[in-house]
Amino acid sequence: MFTVNRKVVLASGNAGKLAEFGQSLAPLGIELIPQSQFVVTEAEETGLSFVENAIIKARHACAASGLPALADDSGLEVDYLSGQPGIYSSRFAGLVGPHKDAANNAKLLAELARVAEPQRSARFQCVLVYMRHANDPVPLICQAAWEGSILKQAQGLDGFGYDPLFAVAGMQCSAAELSKTEKMAVSHRGQALKQLIVALK
Ligand code: IMP
Repeated sequence: MFTVNRKVVLASGNAGKLAEFGQSLAPLGIELIPQSQFVVTEAEETGLSFVENAIIKARHACAASGLPALADDSGLEVDYLSGQPGIYSSRFAGLVGPHKDAANNAKLLAELARVAEPQRSARFQCVLVYMRHANDPVPLICQAAWEGSILKQAQGLDGFGYDPLFAVAGMQCSAAELSKTEKMAVSHRGQALKQLIVALK
């Protein structure tokens, strides 16, 4: 059986993720601690897949803290762009800082400017990795996708990243028009988290 320690480090500096994951894992007796309490440097995401990058981040957090760690890696796959931006979703337009999301969305719209509706299919991918220690040879890996397509213009004010451009399959709205709770119920991250909770139980 999988042994769950009480304290687990979240290999992310994102306060929103800490709140979302922390709330969902609390009923399992897991206290999620931000890696900022231990890690001096950010892990370099040198992998070529979501799962590799999630393992790199989890291992880095385990090594720095001496505790089990949870990491997630996610991104947008656009079929017309052969899966781009994929693992490079956050750095698609080459910017960091507060204008990053706007620049990424502008670049995505420009790349799909002449592409008609049926060819605008896309999905968000999320991989969650739980490692008991830095040398854990069997990381727990959960993966989920969220299907949709890319809108021709931004819609909605909530969310982050590509949410305003992501038309949710089967719903008449963009991801940025869903509340946080509605999004977690259906999103790539929410579905991967549900799998993780079942696995940890
Ligand atoms: P990370 O896994 O937090 O590094 O996220 C990678 C990038 O993928 C983010 O910076 C966003 O650009 C994009 N992304 C991942 N999940 C979402 C989502 O739920 N909504 C919008 N963009 C997302």
